[in-house]
Amino acid sequence: MGSLNMDLSVTVGRLPRPGETVSGTDVVRGAGGKGANQAVAAARLGARVRMVGLVGADAYGDELLDGLTAEGVDTAAVRQLPHAATGLALIVVQGGGENTITLSPGANHRLDPEVLGELSRTAPPGPSDTVLLQLEIPLPSVLAAARAARTAGARVVLNAAPLPRQPSVLADLLAYVDVLVVNESEAQGLLGGPPGPDGWLGHAGRLRGLGPGTVVITLGAAGAVAVDGTHRHTQPGFPVEALDAVGAGDAFCAELAHALGDGAALQAAVRRACAAGALATTRPGAQAALPTRAEVDALLTR
Ligand code: ADP
Repeated sequence: MGSLNMDLSVTVGRLPRPGETVSGTDVVRGAGGKGANQAVAAARLGARVRMVGLVGADAYGDELLDGLTAEGVDTAAVRQLPHAATGLALIVVQGGGENTITLSPGANHRLDPEVLGELSRTAPPGPSDTVLLQLEIPLPSVLAAARAARTAGARVVLNAAPLPRQPSVLADLLAYVDVLVVNESEAQGLLGGPPGPDGWLGHAGRLRGLGPGTVVITLGAAGAVAVDGTHRHTQPGFPVEALDAVGAGDAFCAELAHALGDGAALQAAVRRACAAGALATTRPGAQAALPTRAEVDALLTR
């Protein structure tokens, strides 16, 4: 469950200053939003996926729905909201340098707990399901989804991204989370500072103190660490020719949720997730870069 956006990217020689106009390349259009990225990633990795979310009743909404269907994602719980615009990310990329992103959440911000209740009624989560959540939709809905999933006995995986300005607002939500996935900056944001002498494993252990039974911190090219009640794992990154980090975190979260749902042990699931994240960096774009199950299997046996 989560956000669906259309990403519109233009590359420019240099970013415009306020009041200035610069010309750039032709626009590149791609499906995005953390929710949809993770849904598509999980489907490519072999999971059976139902997406829950909102788009607008506009051409971008049609295109996003068609894209999900083409990837094999069940869209029965993705509603096209009349009188709302599809979420849009306006991305200006300075060739070889910095980006600016202006986000228009549109329909994503209309996903309140009441709408969520209507959407989930058609297919409520069951005890063998995994509910994968991020923070690009209103927090009360993420909380309601986590609570409903917990009540149903489903596994709740939260990718706490983007982190709210006041991370303390996540306290209630974290009590319903089985598996928390954060990157280094999100881990520091939640704990109020960088790790000490006990490193990222120590930080992961402290994050368990906020509620989740299992905590995974992703470390970019360095891989990930994972901690649960009995185990502490360090998984080195897979050496790849990284081109574009966009989509790595989404591929990681999707494969972690998928592998755990398939019954894999934490260490094996984190290893597969690192392989999926590494592969996503080898291609440009968000959804276009997401790997398949066969590609992950091939990297693991290389
Ligand atoms: P985010 O994109 O959310 O900040 P990370 O940068 O930590 O997340 O990347 C997520 C995962 O993707 C990492 O745990 C790692 O397994 C993989 N990954 C990311 N960048 C690289 C890289 N340069 N080389 C190999 N693997 C990578």
